[in-house]
Amino acid sequence: MPFTANRSFKAKPRLVVTSKDIHYIANDGSKIIDGSSGLWCCNAGHNRDAIVDAIQKQAAELDYAPSFQFGHPKAFTLAARLAALAPGDLDHVFFANSGSEAVDTALKIALAYWNVQGKGSKSRLIGRERGYHGVGFGGTAVGGMVANRKLYGNLLAGVDHLRHTYNRDEQAFSRGEPEWGADLADDLERLVGLHDASTIAAVIVEPMAGSTGALPPPKGYLKRLREICDKHGILLIFDEVITGFGRLGASFAAERFGVVPDIMTFAKGVTSGTVPMGGCFVRRGIYEAFMQGGPAHAVELTHGYTYSAHPLACAAALATLDIYRDEGLFERARALEPVWADAIHALKGEPNVEDIRSIGLVGAIDLKPRDGAPGTRGYEALDRAFHEHGLMFRTAGDTIALSPPLIISESQIGEIADKLKAVIRAVA
Ligand code: PLP
Repeated sequence: MPFTANRSFKAKPRLVVTSKDIHYIANDGSKIIDGSSGLWCCNAGHNRDAIVDAIQKQAAELDYAPSFQFGHPKAFTLAARLAALAPGDLDHVFFANSGSEAVDTALKIALAYWNVQGKGSKSRLIGRERGYHGVGFGGTAVGGMVANRKLYGNLLAGVDHLRHTYNRDEQAFSRGEPEWGADLADDLERLVGLHDASTIAAVIVEPMAGSTGALPPPKGYLKRLREICDKHGILLIFDEVITGFGRLGASFAAERFGVVPDIMTFAKGVTSGTVPMGGCFVRRGIYEAFMQGGPAHAVELTHGYTYSAHPLACAAALATLDIYRDEGLFERARALEPVWADAIHALKGEPNVEDIRSIGLVGAIDLKPRDGAPGTRGYEALDRAFHEHGLMFRTAGDTIALSPPLIISESQIGEIADKLKAVIRAVA
């Protein structure tokens, strides 16, 4: 099983069988409130009728269309709808099937972009410690989670990392962007000093690191990164697989933080998790660079997937975007942010709570690791939450990570907070 403690799971499985709105029903019939939107993806809630209808209709109408040398209209309609949501001139879209494929696509486009301009020496990729960019070789290499890297040898050559942005002494219990830490972006200057900009293709960061326990960016950090990239001619890639589609109370984190990257990935929320889909946006100039030179019959970007822009995924995404728009879910997430933050931060003072972070409809609670047994408190919390308290969340080690569907009500936020309190006490 993926990223699962197989032996523990098989001894005591956590199985869900149906879902609706903000709940799962487990195989023993118990009702589970979804505090994590599945895996940060079901932003519109579960089994929404309009999305289910769109998928069913699409399956009956056009089950599959090849994405190499052929296409189908919904792929272009969806690309245009997405481009309208993205900030700046991020107006061209390439479709993949997951966040991992989106990231590897973004990294390959960055490398190819410099190549088509005769600057093939710009081939180094810079990631960040504590970053997560999926599980492809590229994403694992630029990622900064040691457990995900250590089993897989040398990964890619020519990769370096910025330091991560978390400092508990300076940032504990901050709401939104911490005040401290913008200067950490200057790490990029240090890496330029070490490697020279003529060898660096791109820097990739999550605007808010998600998988290592939700680390909002320090105030001003992303702007500073953008400035340094501009100064040295380095592409800036935002991995918005988690932060896209309203999670931070805006269409994308790029919009919320007022920083436009050159390439931006998406996945998860694009279909509200219903059908696998991912992809990336590129700025117009990047697209144009590939359209120069060479004969018109030649393939400009030798990259793609059999299931790029799969009709079922496109239909699901179009119906999902309609729900986001018609129900104003991104604005709703922004409006609920203070209610959510109050509820989560009220857990300060509960046993073993060492830090709490929140931004948009994201929350993280760091529990003190047990002596000599890191991760056991977090695992027990996840298991007890599901089996005994009817609550689903993610954990990263001993950190509880929360990201409820954007349709959550204020009373359901209160319910999640009450259940969290009980779980935290149970694992004290
Ligand atoms: N990038 C980020 C920022 C993610 O959070 C994730 C998944 O959580 C991925 C990439 C990988 O996405 P997937 O699991 O769809 O391959």
